[in-house]
Amino acid sequence: MAKKCEFGKKNGEQCNADVQTGKSLCVFHDPAKAADGHRARRAGGLTRSGQAAVLPLDTPDHPLGDTREVSILLADSINRLRRGQLDPRVANSMGYLASVLLRALEHGPIEERLAKLEAALGLPSGVAVGEKPQSSRRGSCPREV
Ligand SMILES: [Zn+2]
Repeated sequence: MAKKCEFGKKNGEQCNADVQTGKSLCVFHDPAKAADGHRARRAGGLTRSGQAAVLPLDTPDHPLGDTREVSILLADSINRLRRGQLDPRVANSMGYLASVLLRALEHGPIEERLAKLEAALGLPSGVAVGEKPQSSRRGSCPREV
């Protein structure tokens, strides 16, 4: 079993961390390592509390009108994320919103084509083939044809 650190804490208890090889103190209480520990903690703190890596406020909007434009934005964002130029939290939000947007972009044309088909077949919109149109349903349909 590893030896325990000899450092005595302010509350009178002994530090229970494992000692470094050939020493009687742990890495946190070794005066020779104190500067390293401080630097490491400071670097960690800076990374966590630092500004989120985002684009400047005056960055023009990226076009998002079709799946190709969304794909271009996603590819650019993935590369920025890989270089550490985009905050992972921002990338996560973008990924979610992009997936919702892609679904909407895919469904839009299908709904338009469906509406045209329904109109060509003389069907009231939103009624499945073989289903009897109900007057209440027709009246409450929110879609305009
Ligand atoms: Zn210790």
